[in-house]
Amino acid sequence: MAYGMGVVKGMLLTLQHVIKPPITVNYPEQQREIPVRARTNLLWFEERCTGCSTCAQACPDGCILVQTAPREDGTLEIERYEIDFRICMYCGLCTEACPYQAIQSGGRYNDAVYVFENMYRDRDALTVEAQKYLKQNEGRYPNGQTQDENPLITSLPTARSRVNVAGSDKALGPQKFAQRERDHD
Ligand code: SF4
Ligand code: SF4
Repeated sequence: MAYGMGVVKGMLLTLQHVIKPPITVNYPEQQREIPVRARTNLLWFEERCTGCSTCAQACPDGCILVQTAPREDGTLEIERYEIDFRICMYCGLCTEACPYQAIQSGGRYNDAVYVFENMYRDRDALTVEAQKYLKQNEGRYPNGQTQDENPLITSLPTARSRVNVAGSDKALGPQKFAQRERDHD
């Protein structure tokens, strides 16, 4: 190779980058468009949630608090649903564990706060985030489903429906319908 060719090649490469438009984004004035399924945050959709607590059990950090009370029909009333983002590591295990995809990865990434305690989000704060997301994405969940195409039935019976309730000789819930009891006798 002729003497000095390496220098020429290097200069050409430098020139190429001088001509190319910059790929940097002047955040926060400019913001990149985030792909709809990017794992940017956690979104909890109350309308899909049964209160089964599988997400809370799957979370290695114990960030998720679910408090429920049994209803007459064996389903669960969700009294509290809270996520402590101060200790969340965004591993996504809760989203994988949820049988109803009520908690999904997605949403905004720019949620830095001045007050650390504000990283603790209760049900209301989570619902505001989730509804904002749905509004911005024409009712489409991060997993690609839409509210209309997939009518949600979240009042599903849980494990509590299959065991006898304390102080009663019966279980609550549809899984203990007379027909089924006969089938199992
Ligand atoms: S993303 Fe991981 S750490 Fe955060 S709430 Fe879910 S399971 Fe817990
Ligand atoms: S696992 Fe899903 S359905 Fe069950 S409590 Fe968590 S978010 Fe709700």
